[in-house]
Amino acid sequence: MKITRITSHVLRYALPETLGYSQQYYDARTTHLVEVSTDEGITGWGECFGPGTIALANQTIVEKVIQPLVLGMNPMDRDVIWHKVYNLLRDHGQKGMPLQSLSGVDIALWDIAGKIANLPLYQLLGGAHRDSVPVYGYGMMLRPEPVRELRARFRDEAAHIRSMGFAATKMKVGLGPQDDILLAKAVREGVGDDFAFMVDANHCYTTSDALRVGRALSELDAYWFEEPIAPEDRDGYRELRARLDINIAGGEAEFNRWGWRELLECRGLDIAQPEVCALGGISEYLRVLALCHAHHTPVVNHVWGSAVAVATNLHLLAAMPPLPGGLHPWEPMLEFDTTHNAFRDELLREPLDIQGQVWRQAGRASIPSGPGLGVEPDRAFIEHYKN
Ligand code: CA
Repeated sequence: MKITRITSHVLRYALPETLGYSQQYYDARTTHLVEVSTDEGITGWGECFGPGTIALANQTIVEKVIQPLVLGMNPMDRDVIWHKVYNLLRDHGQKGMPLQSLSGVDIALWDIAGKIANLPLYQLLGGAHRDSVPVYGYGMMLRPEPVRELRARFRDEAAHIRSMGFAATKMKVGLGPQDDILLAKAVREGVGDDFAFMVDANHCYTTSDALRVGRALSELDAYWFEEPIAPEDRDGYRELRARLDINIAGGEAEFNRWGWRELLECRGLDIAQPEVCALGGISEYLRVLALCHAHHTPVVNHVWGSAVAVATNLHLLAAMPPLPGGLHPWEPMLEFDTTHNAFRDELLREPLDIQGQVWRQAGRASIPSGPGLGVEPDRAFIEHYKN
């Protein structure tokens, strides 16, 4: 079997409302799907992390840089392909967009491998440790509106996410320490005392501000404090973890086994959040997962994007070994964006319907059982939303 074509589909639509996180507001949603075709008619699907114009740059890397390197190769040789591409791109980017681009191709190759074997991805990975996973619904995005309105909105939205049946929720911060603490109080008020919520700063704080916010979040009994400071600041992460009671989470902006080795050796994370569509695909995710567990660091995958990314992560979460294990073990959760996302809800011929599953299954989502990723994108939908 040979790879005959790699096609990159960048899809885009205008969001019904402006949303934001600590770094920017945005009005459009983008997703970047990768399709790998073969001479035997089997097609694999993957996804690259990276919104907006980043997706357009990655599209060029996928089609103009990676495709010529792997045309004619056997799609089952995915580890050979991974290293051929990485070794040739090393001099031009060991992190960031080259790795995001390679991720989409690698995921599609695993989808092909599952379709050839007629087995779901989780079985190729060694089997399912769980047949469903708890889902946390994130929302409480920033909006360009006064903090007083945002506080009321966050309180109501947090209560609504809980009422939808999610196992936990997550909010954004990024207005500055004082207002952010008020927003977190509003979320605690909204969900009540007996429900887990997490806080995502998207690396907007200095270490001293993160200490101040982190202490307040500890008092509110928030479950984790995500990307409090810049991902490059390894010493800062170590300091925060040593001085704060709240779990420190992060890692979505880290890439490949070498970046993750450094990050883990700094001992600055209580919870690791690898992004399979960015760090180098499933092949590299498995190496990063092994590194995380070798450092006794629990993993809750970072999940963003379309139904292809969600399905990929459901398989990875199913196949993740328990750490440390037990009768009632600690479990990873699926990250789920509760804001408007047509690429997740309407892309597939048979939608995953995560929200319906969460409602019917006490906050849990089942693992897809079809071959490969177990999902089939609707080509008419892709054509309609093509950038
Ligand atoms: Ca995040």
